[in-house]
Amino acid sequence: MCGPIAQGLEQSAHNRKVPGSIPGGPTNLNRAKIIEGNIMSHQSLKKFIDLITFDQQLIILQKKSQDIQKNIFRYQQEIQQVEDRKTKIELKEQELQRQLGQQEILLKELQDNEQSFLKNIEKVSASREYDAAVKELEHLRVIQSSEEQKLMQIHNKINNVKKEEVAIFQQVHEEILKLEQLIEYEKQNLDLVDKELLSIDNARNEKLQGISSDWLEMYEMMRGRVSDPVVPLQQDSCSACFYGLTPRDLQILRYNGILQCKDCYRLLYEQSVP
Ligand SMILES: [Zn+2]
Repeated sequence: MCGPIAQGLEQSAHNRKVPGSIPGGPTNLNRAKIIEGNIMSHQSLKKFIDLITFDQQLIILQKKSQDIQKNIFRYQQEIQQVEDRKTKIELKEQELQRQLGQQEILLKELQDNEQSFLKNIEKVSASREYDAAVKELEHLRVIQSSEEQKLMQIHNKINNVKKEEVAIFQQVHEEILKLEQLIEYEKQNLDLVDKELLSIDNARNEKLQGISSDWLEMYEMMRGRVSDPVVPLQQDSCSACFYGLTPRDLQILRYNGILQCKDCYRLLYEQSVP
């Protein structure tokens, strides 16, 4: 069916949900209908509350799955950090090796200088020039010896870094192994939780049977927004936002079993009903 006739029928079906047309009290004619409606509502409501309780467990399980995934991600980050420690010490050694190379070039230059200086000194005949040359040679040798010391220092540093490297590599290896075991353990957990979620999903479909599609629609909409989409009534008020129901709201709630809170849009029910 389509067109205005179908719409009209749907309209009248919907009108039962919000019986704005309930007069001051039910007439004899529709009293039976209301009672019947109530009985239906009670059964449907019980199923509905059942579904919500079920969904709360589902949420707990989904949360568990998320927590496990977070753990896995955290362990993976920790592995990265541990590996960074290894990279850092490797870079430190590389830098020292670079300094060593430069220092060796510098010393080679100084030695070449010394050699050519010694050759030149033989050619010098005047004593004044000779004295000056000897003085300069001494100066050159002082520089050379100081640069040789620097070279030794770099050598020592490299030896120390290499020792440090051995220790760090060992630590890193052990820590990564431990983290990988934790990841493996969490992945197994995740697998179990995901399987449970899958089977729950199938069970959930069964639980949807016999629940008013209007309620389900409202419920699904609110479920995406808040963690407690359906709350019981507390002293004639919404127990989530404390909106006070008017006597008319209460009447509708008792008639339908469920009422949408006008303030927070959660679905309200009377706790004594199921
Ligand atoms: Zn509310």
